[in-house]
Amino acid sequence: MSVKSRGVLPEDERFMRLAIEQACQGDQTRGAGEVGCVIVRDGEVLAAGHNEAELRHDPTAHAEIVTLRKLGEKLQTADFHGCTLYCTLQPCGMCSVACIWAKITRIVYGATRNDVHSMYFDTRHFNASDLIRDAFRDDMEIVGGVLARECTQFYYRPGDNPPREEQINI
Ligand SMILES: [Zn+2]
Repeated sequence: MSVKSRGVLPEDERFMRLAIEQACQGDQTRGAGEVGCVIVRDGEVLAAGHNEAELRHDPTAHAEIVTLRKLGEKLQTADFHGCTLYCTLQPCGMCSVACIWAKITRIVYGATRNDVHSMYFDTRHFNASDLIRDAFRDDMEIVGGVLARECTQFYYRPGDNPPREEQINI
């Protein structure tokens, strides 16, 4: 039923490091967030971004959405077939479905929802990545845990008690 998973590819760590650089930029930019993303096709980085939700007063401005929009502007199309999206954190439900609409071919993420505090996820009781695995397109691959340790350093861990003003999704 599903496309044959190629699993982790040799170039995945290299591109994830670029996503980590984006997360660092977001972390150091007032109002931006510490989630980074790059979108790659045929070995070339076509777009990069980080979370800008607070900066833009736009709750949809997650790193993945910001980067998808930049890519659309650049390519002048909304069809991103053949592209791989790298993100430092497992995509939420909104971004997972956005990737489906965008026809992204592969999603590669770093920190998994088990690595981080539950406040980062809109869905407490199901895993949005299962939407892709089980319910939607069968020509999309999703791979998690690439450089997970490096990516997880940006986020509160499951046992942490983040300051209330920093808690999202409560
Ligand atoms: Zn998201």
